[in-house]
Amino acid sequence: MFECPHCHERGIGFLQKLFMGSTNPARCKRCGRRVAISQLSVILLIPTYVMMFFLFKVDDSWLRILLLGLLIVVFFYIHLKYSKLIPI
Ligand SMILES: [Zn+2]
Repeated sequence: MFECPHCHERGIGFLQKLFMGSTNPARCKRCGRRVAISQLSVILLIPTYVMMFFLFKVDDSWLRILLLGLLIVVFFYIHLKYSKLIPI
């Protein structure tokens, strides 16, 4: 669970944050108020988008699948660990 910026309780679930963006907020399970990801946090994920572009240039399909899996793990790790929750 992640801390809500409104009530400072752990009211934001793992899956809620995983699928939350700057334009699709979620509700805190404790206070019911809406929370979103900071737009500045989206900038943190730009390197993974750039790496995704270069992934299509890899010829070996197994290597491409392996790198895609790794990239998805890195993307979710950065998103869950460093994306800042903001009150809306
Ligand atoms: Zn809350």
